Amino acid sequence: MAQKKAHPKKPVSKAKAAPAVAAKPVAEEKTEPAPKKAEPAAEKAAPAPKKAEPVTEKAAPAPKKAEPVAEKAAPAPKKAEPAAEKAVPIPKKAKPAPKKAEPAAEKAVPAPKKAKPAAKKKPAAKKATPAPATEEPKPVVEEPAPVVAEPVQPKEEAPMEQQYDTPRRSVAFIGSECHPFVKTGGLGDVMYALPRELVKQNCDVRVILPRYACIPQKYQDQMVYRGEFYMDLGETGRNYYVGIMEYVHDGVVYDFIDNQEFFSAGNPYIGLVDDIPKYCFFSKAALAALNWMNWIPDVIHCHDWQAALVPVYLRTMFQDTPVGHAQTVLTIHNLRFQGIYNIPTLKYWTGLPDEVFNMGAMKQGYEDANMLKAGLAYADRITTVSGTYAWEIQTPEYGEKLEDHLRYHSYKLRGIVNGIDYEMWNPATDPALAVNYDITNVLDHKWQNKLALQEELGLVQDQGKFVIGLISRLTNQKGLDLVNAIVPELMDGNTQVVVLGTGDKEYEDTFRYYENAYRGMFCACIQYDEARAHRIYAGADALLVPSRFEPCGLTQLNAMHYGTLPIVRETGGLKDTVEPYNVFNGDGNGFTFDRYDAGLLLDAINRAKTEYFVNRYHWDEVVQRDMAKDVSWENSARQYKDLYLELTPW
Ligand code: ADP
Repeated sequence: MAQKKAHPKKPVSKAKAAPAVAAKPVAEEKTEPAPKKAEPAAEKAAPAPKKAEPVTEKAAPAPKKAEPVAEKAAPAPKKAEPAAEKAVPIPKKAKPAPKKAEPAAEKAVPAPKKAKPAAKKKPAAKKATPAPATEEPKPVVEEPAPVVAEPVQPKEEAPMEQQYDTPRRSVAFIGSECHPFVKTGGLGDVMYALPRELVKQNCDVRVILPRYACIPQKYQDQMVYRGEFYMDLGETGRNYYVGIMEYVHDGVVYDFIDNQEFFSAGNPYIGLVDDIPKYCFFSKAALAALNWMNWIPDVIHCHDWQAALVPVYLRTMFQDTPVGHAQTVLTIHNLRFQGIYNIPTLKYWTGLPDEVFNMGAMKQGYEDANMLKAGLAYADRITTVSGTYAWEIQTPEYGEKLEDHLRYHSYKLRGIVNGIDYEMWNPATDPALAVNYDITNVLDHKWQNKLALQEELGLVQDQGKFVIGLISRLTNQKGLDLVNAIVPELMDGNTQVVVLGTGDKEYEDTFRYYENAYRGMFCACIQYDEARAHRIYAGADALLVPSRFEPCGLTQLNAMHYGTLPIVRETGGLKDTVEPYNVFNGDGNGFTFDRYDAGLLLDAINRAKTEYFVNRYHWDEVVQRDMAKDVSWENSARQYKDLYLELTPW
């Protein structure tokens, strides 16, 4: 994500067309924690080699690659449809501008009932179906925020138990990934679990996602064609096809924005060269789609840099359209990724007014534009995934160069910790476990899972050993250099360590080395294996999370829910969710240390061992307390609902 490249002017179509333009594969990009100094924003911001070349100069980012195919893929015909053309005039500003000033989408198609549920897939081909032009502008909604929630799909299933103890609100989630369609990290979990929980709390929720080609076929097959329109984009001079495919599940409506030119790659993220235009398009198309569907939410909740332009578009180009009534919330899941590129490129792709490109919003340094930074400036509220992280990111150590900006906007910033999905994580029903258990019989059965785990991994089978698990991406963010530094001292004959993860080769090799050095006592599973992760949570006694920084962290929550005590560094969500064990009164949920220091980590582990071997009665009490702890989404969702109500106090 860090890399920055000189950039073009009109490259786009081509650049995009050719999926993988020398850029790191997403997964890596996303996950990569990048060592503090390694690639901080500045790095990115670094004015690419040539520095201030006039944009036009570099005009073609990846032009060489331009395969003819791409060309084809491109939906929008040259100029063909005049209708479409009209349909999407990008209003310069948010002025009361006359009708024509409204963004295409809106005008484009009021046609609510027209949505033909029948049609199945619609390849993002260029269906010149512009019909809208003639349609009378008739801006649908004029009043405050009337939530015209039109009945989406009749087949909507009855939502789970409802708790209508607060007023109803409609919320549009806009983000780049969502389990089970596409997921590369915690964002995908939140986009899945939070909307479902909000439905139970009297919210009408729509989740807007890109329709990536990599979404499993079984979901693609269940999507229903909802409609299409054309939209202009930035200074490209083209009209882009925007298809809407719909899928309804558990009371949540998922609308997928379709355009094969942008979303046909095998991965959701490719590299900034492709991703910047892609998410400029997506953010604008999402708002246009809301107008087109005539579904005007009370609140638009966007996530991370990929959707950070939503509040910016909303308060500029879309301000005077129906969706302009909505309030916006922007959630930071990991501040390390911000969507930074040079200003000319962002101007080209967004067409946003110059006022957006100032130091208070999009501009960063001398020549860069930062999408997340702009979103933070324009959003009505900012949240991040834990209270401590919300505070930390206002400091130079964790602020990724946005600490000043965040401090300036701190009045609208707050932290809300994530939860875990109790259906997915339930030791009483978990099919992956050797023996299921709950809080009432955990002390009778957990050890059986330990023996099964030891057998599965080739460790010495002995329920008396203290088993420490570590389930993590193997990257610098996760504090693995601290672990590496203390392994020899950990291996005292009574302790076993199980590592599950993939990531930096350096760490993978290190753990393989230890496996070889401590046969039967140390196991390195260099893989991504969900089922095995579940068995480690169940079979280990403690779980290590010594992260350098951790916005929220889910592994410590999973562990506690499985009666496995977390040993964590007091940072971000780890600090907010794991109360330190108190040797004097037995309170707490786990063992913690504060400074990023290997000696302190070792000390925390030794304190845990002491309780385990010497004070088992108290240890067992903590096991049960952790299992009883509420780490579900319910509580978090309630806080989000409160936030929405705060923004819409009618
Ligand atoms: P991050 O999002 O920074 O990677 P989190 O703690 O928020 O870390 O979430 C990690 C999630 O991914 C947890 O649910 C954990 O169980 C899971 N996970 C991480 N590594 C693996 C792996 N190698 N195999 C299976 N699950 C994993």
